[in-house]
Amino acid sequence: MPTPATNLRIDGRRLWDSLMEMAKIGATAKGGCNRQTLTDLDREGRDLFRRWCEQAGLTVTVDEMGNMFARRRGRRDDLPPVAMGSHLDTQPTGGKFDGVGGVLSALEVVRTLNDAGYETDHPLIVVNWTNEEGTRFAPAMLASGVWAGAFTKEFAYARTDRDGKQFGAELARIGYKGELPCAPQDWKCHLELHIEQGPILEAEGKEIGVVTGGQGIRWLDVAITGKESHAGSTPMPRRKDALVAAAKVITRLDEIAREHAPHGVTTVGDLRIAKPSRNVIPGEVTFTVDMRHPEHAVIEAMEAKLRAAVEAACARDGLPHTVEQIWYFPPVAFDPGCIAAIRGAAQELGYGWREMVSGPGHDSCYTARKVPTAMIFVPCKDGLSHNEEEWAEPAHMEAGCNTLLHAALKLAQAG
Ligand SMILES: [Zn+2]
Repeated sequence: MPTPATNLRIDGRRLWDSLMEMAKIGATAKGGCNRQTLTDLDREGRDLFRRWCEQAGLTVTVDEMGNMFARRRGRRDDLPPVAMGSHLDTQPTGGKFDGVGGVLSALEVVRTLNDAGYETDHPLIVVNWTNEEGTRFAPAMLASGVWAGAFTKEFAYARTDRDGKQFGAELARIGYKGELPCAPQDWKCHLELHIEQGPILEAEGKEIGVVTGGQGIRWLDVAITGKESHAGSTPMPRRKDALVAAAKVITRLDEIAREHAPHGVTTVGDLRIAKPSRNVIPGEVTFTVDMRHPEHAVIEAMEAKLRAAVEAACARDGLPHTVEQIWYFPPVAFDPGCIAAIRGAAQELGYGWREMVSGPGHDSCYTARKVPTAMIFVPCKDGLSHNEEEWAEPAHMEAGCNTLLHAALKLAQAG
């Protein structure tokens, strides 16, 4: 078995220049990017990416969801390819690195191998997933979701944006509705480099996050029914105040997350009083709950505690209530073999690394359902993302890309 090229390093300068070149498409005044999916700017970004891939000798195909696959032949071209990908679309107030860093790092891996004349046993594929952000067409990770069988193509095509434009029509309009069926191919694995979008790596002074999985996310709606009555003339013992009960639940929910530290998080991001009025006791209150943890059993336990908290809060005044689960994205465990390849690469390259779980969702959370998958995180300044000021240091991008290169080299070796 040939030894992987242990001395090979990517060209950090070229990677950075490509990132900055792509960032000109949809550049915003504050230094960010607004390159939302299936817009003219997305087409421009895709065209540039396609040109770069073709210049690197890759064969580009597009599937019926607009996912782009740029393939580099393997020494044994019939072996299942090692895929590396992320997304080129951004939030309206997006940055230069979220998603783009993963796609262009994968391309830089290929350019590096080309320069060295190095052939991998397995073929390589660089992927640009369509509509990861979900900001123009909800939900997020729509195209990798179709690929993994979580949504149908028809569901995706019928998604509409704020102006009533349909996903399917917009995909065709920008010329990226391909022929290839959107379904898993026989990939060996999928690797994704991404900025952390959180503060942990920066705080610990580490270059590489070896991502072992993604958090489970559960959304619930809670409704509590009290009774509207006069704020002045209703004695305290006779009140049925739905907001007071809700407040007790929300306070308890904060404790519930802390009981499952460090990974448990809970958020009430939307709370409504049905008919708000300064001098009326709130009669109908609804609020949303977002709870996350990397383990299914813990999410179950957190939900049970939430339900108990609602019971307890409503008991004194006998308030009717409902707790409804409206969405669940189960925790994702990445593949031990891919994780080991990334950890080994980071270690051999001498980078500071730690294992971590992803808070946000990523395309890899869907690919993991079909092929062995893992992710590499690199630090971003102040943990800031989905923000025009999003920033990753050139040295960190370079470290992440070198880690991607050597993880891919390990996985692309036959045997
Ligand atoms: Zn992203």
